Amino acid sequence: MAAARHEFGEHGGVNLSIEASTTFTVLTATMLPGIFRGEHGPLSREDGSESGGCYLYGRHFNPTVFTFGRFLAALEGTEAAYATASGMAAISCALLQLCDVGDRIVSANTVYGGTFALLKDYLPRKAGIETRFVPLGDHAAIAAALDQTAAKVLYVESLANPTLEVADIPALAEIAHAAGAKLVVDNTFAPVILSPAMHGADVVVHSVTKFISGGSDIIAGAVCGSQEFVTQLMDLHTGSIMLLGPTMDPKVAHELTLRLPHLGLRIREHGRRALAYAERLEALGVAVGYPGLPSHPSHELLERLATPVYGAGGVLTVDLGSIERANRFMEILQNEHRFGFMAVSLGYFETLMSASGSSTSSELSPEEQVAAGISPGLVRISVGLTGHLEQRLDQLEDAIVRSAVG
Ligand SMILES: *Cc1c(COP(=O)(O)O)cnc(C)c1O
Repeated sequence: MAAARHEFGEHGGVNLSIEASTTFTVLTATMLPGIFRGEHGPLSREDGSESGGCYLYGRHFNPTVFTFGRFLAALEGTEAAYATASGMAAISCALLQLCDVGDRIVSANTVYGGTFALLKDYLPRKAGIETRFVPLGDHAAIAAALDQTAAKVLYVESLANPTLEVADIPALAEIAHAAGAKLVVDNTFAPVILSPAMHGADVVVHSVTKFISGGSDIIAGAVCGSQEFVTQLMDLHTGSIMLLGPTMDPKVAHELTLRLPHLGLRIREHGRRALAYAERLEALGVAVGYPGLPSHPSHELLERLATPVYGAGGVLTVDLGSIERANRFMEILQNEHRFGFMAVSLGYFETLMSASGSSTSSELSPEEQVAAGISPGLVRISVGLTGHLEQRLDQLEDAIVRSAVG
């Protein structure tokens, strides 16, 4: 994978400096109009531009955020990337840049609850953009929906929430491109594990809030894609990020650049522990969903698409049959064993547990939940990095056994 050029600080510091200014000066009066005409921008000469290193205003490009974007582009293998104030900002700005009023989207029916609400209710009402939802694995239905709607975008998650079904990105890219649509992939659940752009995705979006941050202390997002697409998003007159305004704060971008270097290490350890938990749960005869297990329907596909050594991700699911047992299970783990916390979200260094149907996927109706494979007793576990693994496995087993007794 391409490495990003190291960025030194202003005084030779090993880490990059924070450029906190919201406005930037120019040496000559004629420069400013040139920036407004798009003749001068942040790209340096090494990146192939005529006149680089020019900044205008903090909601447009900022040097620190721009550098973080370069690192994210290297992570995803895209030409460019830019960071946003949240994952939802990245998703909504990317989709609004690709679609105009009356355009259509085809989306997998297993997507993050906020994305589902955006596509199902918000975009049709506010922007006249309607979405047809199709099962992620039904490629014939996806191709038919793209043809019937002449959709501009096919939208999927690389590792779907919470089913952990893997998107066959090379096949989906081919189907989307044959229909004249762009493939947009949310890679929040699988950074470094999957590289959608290298398999043909046109745009990769992230909720940086999750694994990339790792601290459950920052809300952030990113859009990765071609130089042309990122330039469009930032266009002074027509750019969704520039005009809707959800750019990332440079102090946040700086903080996140210090977490990216150990993302790979963290993902490996999340995955090592998640696999151990999944194997123990499976041995106990519990219905466990983890793509690292040969029993998971997406296991072979993930092995084919994933970058070796990073494992199968830090999230697993366990179906305990009823919400009552799911709640007993989570309470034993949190309140007796200090195993983790009952909270939504993922990618934290501590374990997070939530019952998907009544929390993160509650935007879906009961029928939509059934269609998306979400049962009421389904607990999603984002496996943390702390604690002695053997002790954690014993705690998990104890909660499985004792939660069964109502
Ligand atoms: C959390 C999440 C989002 C939304 O990201 P925010 O940073 O909370 O705005 C989008 N997609 C997926 C898969 C997520 O897990």
